[in-house]
Amino acid sequence: MKALVYTAVRTVEVHEVDMPVAGPTEVLVRVGATGICGSDIHGFLGHSSRRMPGLILGHETVGIIEEGDESLLGKRVTVNPLITCMLCPACRAGRHNNCLNWRLLGMDQTHGGFGEYLTVPRRNVHPIPDSVHDEKAVMVEPLANAFHILSMIPQSAGLAPTAVIVGGGTIGACIYAVAQARGLQILAVSEPNPKRQAILEALGCRRVIDPRSTDVADTILAETNGQGVSLAIDAVGSSVTRNTCAKLVSRGGTALLLGLDEGTTSFDFFDLVRREVRLQTSFAYTEQNYAEALDFVVNGAVDFTAWTTSMPTEQGQQAFETLVNSPGQYLKIALVPTGRGLRGAMK
Ligand SMILES: [Zn+2]
Ligand SMILES: [Zn+2]
Repeated sequence: MKALVYTAVRTVEVHEVDMPVAGPTEVLVRVGATGICGSDIHGFLGHSSRRMPGLILGHETVGIIEEGDESLLGKRVTVNPLITCMLCPACRAGRHNNCLNWRLLGMDQTHGGFGEYLTVPRRNVHPIPDSVHDEKAVMVEPLANAFHILSMIPQSAGLAPTAVIVGGGTIGACIYAVAQARGLQILAVSEPNPKRQAILEALGCRRVIDPRSTDVADTILAETNGQGVSLAIDAVGSSVTRNTCAKLVSRGGTALLLGLDEGTTSFDFFDLVRREVRLQTSFAYTEQNYAEALDFVVNGAVDFTAWTTSMPTEQGQQAFETLVNSPGQYLKIALVPTGRGLRGAMK
């Protein structure tokens, strides 16, 4: 089959590769479309030790079952790319994201979705109705991350917590959309990129703060009589954004940290301990979160398609460069195996 292979830093090329073979508990998926994730871009730029040349990237896939479970043959499915063992204590507790043996499509030794076919365990595919266009279906995976981080809000935050989201890229926008639907009071989203600011505003965000011209933490503290908000959500992962989150939460409040831009950050623990600030990280999603995200997309709770597009896989290099050079131009680019058409209701 043909696949887009990450061959060197800033280079992806279409190569002829071996067809994957489905094992006894697996299915063979004929790829319809696979979205390019921020983590794929990290890999493309050579910033990820777990995405090395020779790997087929991509983990946001929609496709059609071609081999495996009889009852699924010909069905259009979304692929949960987090492959877990189902045996370890975390899996048995339903916390698949904490699996001792997890693998992700398009990472380490596991090829991803930028080829014509892929294989995954049967339990990782979920049928989707024809009413969902492929460009909507590739948003299920990023939305699953949003469902997970919001599931990490502690009970102590109450029923209508106040929140600030730092970072309005694809994941920040997904968190905004889900948080909004769940009734969180989002006082503001912080985002410097004007294109992303416009997307957030179109999604209904009434307050976008530009952190280049405004000190986000000082502004939120001033507007809340110095108290801060009960939740600050970091969808960037830099030392600056993590510390902004820690500073603008109230006493006893929670900073929810998901972004992974930088590996190391120092905090003022005199301040954090004295205000009993909770630092809660969030990683990936459970199977339940994935199902919730699928429901959210099927029910049309939010429509991102004005900011999504698709390109044939042979233009993969151009697609990656567009995302690197023009961040915010698209919320998502999906790669479609060359010669295949998109499926699902017109977007
Ligand atoms: Zn992703
Ligand atoms: Zn496990």
